[in-house]
Amino acid sequence: MLKVSNVTAGYGRTVILQDVSIEVGRGEVVTIIGANGAGKTTLLRAISGLVKPSAGRITFDGTDIAGMAPADIVGRGLIQVPEARQLFPVMSVRDNVLMGAYHPAARAGADRRFAEVLDLFPRIGERLDQLAGSLSGGEQQMVAIARGLMANPKLLMLDEPSLGLAPIIVQQMFGIVDRICEMGTTVLLVEQKAFHALKIAHRAYVIENGRIAIENTGAGLLADPHIKTAYLGI
Ligand code: ATP
Repeated sequence: MLKVSNVTAGYGRTVILQDVSIEVGRGEVVTIIGANGAGKTTLLRAISGLVKPSAGRITFDGTDIAGMAPADIVGRGLIQVPEARQLFPVMSVRDNVLMGAYHPAARAGADRRFAEVLDLFPRIGERLDQLAGSLSGGEQQMVAIARGLMANPKLLMLDEPSLGLAPIIVQQMFGIVDRICEMGTTVLLVEQKAFHALKIAHRAYVIENGRIAIENTGAGLLADPHIKTAYLGI
């Protein structure tokens, strides 16, 4: 579904990603783990069209999307839920969620998806008229994912959805990501909280200093001695 081939990208003259190749198949949860500054967000931004690769190819459903405008990439169903949520704090929860269906490609079926999203996140349904900025961190994360789902994603890219959440909420969050995949949306997940993210992953990559260092199944990485010491603290 998504194929990133030998991508090099960065900011100005600073090269961050070097010769990065990953694949995401339809129906998979694929996880990318890596330390602070390894280049995880930059990789998602390159896929979303927010950072232009200086080399390599990115294809989505067989179309080359590298260099395409971000809005056109969104219109194809490749949706990024950004790190730290980036909601509109003085707008209501309802308007934040509905904003996800702003792109013309997402307007058909928006009412049905809104009902599905409220079913997935009952807590959001109880707080539709509250200002998004007054929600707890976990609730804001749910709104950000709900907004992403309103965009009618074929592939949903989640950038550190567990950031700043209490352990019990982190567990719930990954349960929801698992359910989103079961409901038919492919997921590319970027995380520092490696244990949970690898547990729900069909396949996973480790990114170190802008390069893909290891590729394996989620279970394979959980059992890998290097991953255990470097990323799981075991
Ligand atoms: P984290 O887990 O801390 O979010 P990350 O793996 O997502 O890290 P990136 O956000 O991709 O890492 O950052 C990779 C490198 O790119 C970092 O050294 C960062 O300082 C640099 N960087 C990120 N955004 C910019 C920018 N707009 N301009 C210049 N450098 C940037």
